[in-house]
Amino acid sequence: MEIKKIMSQMSITEKASLCSGKDFWTTKPLDKHGIISIMMTDGPHGLRKQKGETDHMGLNQSIKATCFPTYATVACSWDKELVFRMGQAIARECIRHNVSIILGPGTNIKRSPLCGRNFEYFSEDPYIAGHLSAAFINGVQSMGIGTSLKHFAVNNQEKRRMTIDVHVDPRTLHEIYLRPFEIAVKNSLPYTVMCAYNKVNGLYCSEDKYLLNDVLREKWGYEGVVITDWGAVGDRVIGLESGLDIEMPASNGQNDQKIVDAIENGKLDIQPLDKAVERILGMYSKLKRSNTNVTWNYNDHHKLAKEIALESIVLLKNVDNILPLSNDKEICIIGEFAEHPRYQGSGSSKINPFMLKNALQALEGKNISYAKGYNQRDTDPDAKLIEESISLARNCDVAVIFAGLTDIYESEGFDREHMHMPPAHNILIEEVAKANKNTVVILSGGSPVEMPWADKVKGIVNTYLGGEGGAEALVDILYGNANPCGKLAETYPISLKDTPSYCYFNDDDKIAKYKEGIYIGYRYYDSADVKVLYPFGFGLSYTTFQYKNFIMSNKLITPDQGIIAKITIKNTGSVDGAEIVQLYQGCKDSSVFRPSKELIGFEKIYLKSGEEKSISFTINSKDFSYYNIEENRWYTENGKYNIMVGSCSRDIKITQEVLLKSHPSQRTMDYSKNSSIYDDPKKVKKAVKDEEFYGLFKDSNTLQSRDNDNICTMNTTIEDVLDTDTGRKLYEGQYNKLSEFTKGLRKNDPMVKMSKTIILEMPIRSIIMFSSGQITYNDVNDIVKKINQERVQERD
Ligand code: BGC
Repeated sequence: MEIKKIMSQMSITEKASLCSGKDFWTTKPLDKHGIISIMMTDGPHGLRKQKGETDHMGLNQSIKATCFPTYATVACSWDKELVFRMGQAIARECIRHNVSIILGPGTNIKRSPLCGRNFEYFSEDPYIAGHLSAAFINGVQSMGIGTSLKHFAVNNQEKRRMTIDVHVDPRTLHEIYLRPFEIAVKNSLPYTVMCAYNKVNGLYCSEDKYLLNDVLREKWGYEGVVITDWGAVGDRVIGLESGLDIEMPASNGQNDQKIVDAIENGKLDIQPLDKAVERILGMYSKLKRSNTNVTWNYNDHHKLAKEIALESIVLLKNVDNILPLSNDKEICIIGEFAEHPRYQGSGSSKINPFMLKNALQALEGKNISYAKGYNQRDTDPDAKLIEESISLARNCDVAVIFAGLTDIYESEGFDREHMHMPPAHNILIEEVAKANKNTVVILSGGSPVEMPWADKVKGIVNTYLGGEGGAEALVDILYGNANPCGKLAETYPISLKDTPSYCYFNDDDKIAKYKEGIYIGYRYYDSADVKVLYPFGFGLSYTTFQYKNFIMSNKLITPDQGIIAKITIKNTGSVDGAEIVQLYQGCKDSSVFRPSKELIGFEKIYLKSGEEKSISFTINSKDFSYYNIEENRWYTENGKYNIMVGSCSRDIKITQEVLLKSHPSQRTMDYSKNSSIYDDPKKVKKAVKDEEFYGLFKDSNTLQSRDNDNICTMNTTIEDVLDTDTGRKLYEGQYNKLSEFTKGLRKNDPMVKMSKTIILEMPIRSIIMFSSGQITYNDVNDIVKKINQERVQERD
């Protein structure tokens, strides 16, 4: 397709029409110019394509598809090649169902274990999150299907996700929250990037020129298309000027018309529209070229889903080698998850699985008995079910309890309020462990939980959310047909109080201040020396590994000359297995505050019993850099650094020192004196004052003003106008509409809770998106006016 030629034949109206969707999932065609409509749909850990007609809320049931483990799980494999294959498989399903773009991966950083959507994200660490995202994107796109890297950026909570204004200092922004996007963009060129709902430092992401243009396009060289998250469009004209290309889903052409009007009135130059259209057509041409026919079947994909689950299971505890189980032992299986597994999360990523097996089915032929233990739908313990479980446990060799987070505990749309498991599960574990000293817990859930019983059981296996093949993978691990090799891609703190964002997370409805700064996950726990339950990168095996001969090709690193670090790993146990080797760096004499270690490399290595192999890491000066806000770029400081190789962040096996020589004259960053509190990571958890936090910004004057809560605008949430008649009516109207879709569901289904929360927390303008063209911006303006009038009357 000759893009320039087609564009020269298009009118302004035609061009603008390409800048928004046709309906919930598709883009608009322009037959006259040979431009077809394409479908984009979720994602991200399988294909979620709605059955039959698209409804105006995107909520109808979806077709059957392979349900792979969610990303929180997949991340524990630390296996780029496997994630690449997962991407390819999902792309094959897209091709069969005529979907052009899969809406994923989600690469947001896990700022707090409480984010309801953490099960969809990879890690607390930007390096692993970025590289696994790139692997997924490369896998999908190698098949000619596009991806959407989301949610750009700093979307780390569900509460008020459509309006929250995230205040994050520029260094933390780049070093932590933008970094996984940067890595993914530079290593994989996603066809689209999805901008997030929230604001960053005062601006909606869909209107943020700094993010969409200056950083994404100019600094990182991104040439693809930016789309909105569903309904994330604010001011469309400012959006276009800032670098936003496609509004999804659709506003019935209203925003396209605003673009046309702005150009015709001379308020907007044609250039941003032309650029957007050029990028959109460029993306279409890539998609068209490579939509090839491929042969595959669901059974193969199911096998792959099982393989990924198997590589991702993390063995957290194994006292007295309680695992693997031997076939001649009598095992009692306890817990309803063994019958009705928790294998994925709720919300837009929910897949209708092709072939789901539960653990009881996967255990067929083994010497087992079963007790339900709890009702999944209840959080409180059931005395009778516990009693039954205890008597079963008393009479068997090993008690295996399936427990964790039930679906109402975590979902898109709302955050958790604590890190507890349901009391029904905790009490069951305590009681069974008293009855049988050989108790093993199998955990399901998308995010860390507190484990008050951890010392009382002999084994803990973390399966996260293992997808449709998860139970089969688990049984292979339990009986030693496979050796566990997954490692945590996030820290398991002992309790919520230990988390660095504890005092700041969800403490305000309007502004989220990221006062803990760069001290996220192990960057905090390790630097502040906080005891954790299980550290970042941790996972046991049925075998043991020895680390030896850590050799550097050179001890001096310069901007033009990297070094090679080589390490030999030996499997010193009696079974074959895989080890995930991790490489960290830590600056010894930095002039700015830095975490004690940062991940700069990882490799998974398979070794037969007794076998040894060497692996090499290439290390460049960029691996040591921090984000310098004076110079607005990554910056490598001269000095001494530790290179640490280990099996997790808290088990460093060998350390070597290197010297880094960058440029002769160095300008270090001049952090405001007010912010010296960050020199002591122990203090950042609860003691950071506003002036210390804002001292990290170059210019924070524009940030601290809040919207006037008394004045309603299009961006005010429905929850915030419930004090008025019009607001209440608005809520009821939207709620009734949604009830059509949630009718058959039980009261505590997460979809019901999510839908309610979404309505309450959405800005008033979002009603346009859910109205299939019936509500206009004029209607919304009238509603806003009425609300303001009612408030004035009320006051007078
Ligand atoms: C979610 C996105 C998703 C989109 C379409 C949004 O609410 O945040 O992740 O891709 O809906 O379902």
